[in-house]
Amino acid sequence: MHIHTTYSDGDYTPQQVVDMARTMGLDMIAITDHDECRGFGDVSDDDGLSVIAGIEISATHGGQVHVLGLGINPQDSGILAHVTQAEKKRRERATRMARLLRDADIDISLDDVDAVCSVGVIGRPHFAAVLVAKGYASSPKEAFSRYLGRHAPFYVPLERITVAQAADMIIGAGGKVVLAHPGLIKGSVLSDLVPQLGDMGFWGIEAYHPSHTTGQCRQFESMARAHGLYVSTGSDFHGSVKPDVKIGDEKRGGDYLGLSMRALLERR
Ligand code: AMP
Ligand code: FE
Ligand code: FE
Ligand code: ZN
Repeated sequence: MHIHTTYSDGDYTPQQVVDMARTMGLDMIAITDHDECRGFGDVSDDDGLSVIAGIEISATHGGQVHVLGLGINPQDSGILAHVTQAEKKRRERATRMARLLRDADIDISLDDVDAVCSVGVIGRPHFAAVLVAKGYASSPKEAFSRYLGRHAPFYVPLERITVAQAADMIIGAGGKVVLAHPGLIKGSVLSDLVPQLGDMGFWGIEAYHPSHTTGQCRQFESMARAHGLYVSTGSDFHGSVKPDVKIGDEKRGGDYLGLSMRALLERR
């Protein structure tokens, strides 16, 4: 329920992702690119595989929060307005990052980065790919720790909408609002946010994610149930930027996840 494609920072096109999922025998997938949902012109359900249109919005609640929208109408005018705006903001930010790198005599231009970002929105993983290709880092992970990460010298923050705005927009596009990978949210931001999720119209919490320990998965499932929310799961598959993660990799979860996924499909 959480896969990236070439429309944001993934390596494979939407159609390639669908083909991989079908080969693996998966029943359902959701494509959830960062601030982008224009990849759905290219794909549809087939052969018993349900393809859910989604998005992963970079939002803020006094700190970074990723908000997933599952089952959205990718042609909704509100969500497309966000995508266009985010594309513009991300481009401005990429221009500033390229300038900082050039000022530090690191031989990388915005054109180099554009060359690895064929469609959709530009992000730090595209910079990481170029830094690795040009020998400035040995892996995307190292590119993040030395150049691009939040505490690294060339980091430029992204202008973000609030979690409440992201939730309203997803609901307006007919989607279910899910809190992405809560284990990656700063503790104080999370503890402030969780009691407000119901009022903001959230449908669920992504309790199952490769970055979560099994203890965290259990804890986030209890948290969801305590607040009357469903749970979701996902590999957060990208390809080379997260080389250890394969599509369909997140296999944890039990009855409540099964019930949640049925609820998600039923109300499409
Ligand atoms: P952006 O949305 O442009 O700020 O880029 C964030 C994306 O960068 C995340 O969704 C991940 O795909 C990727 N990312 C963040 N930190 C790392 C890291 N340490 N190593 C590899 N990829 C990362
Ligand atoms: Fe990403
Ligand atoms: Fe995320
Ligand atoms: Zn993601």
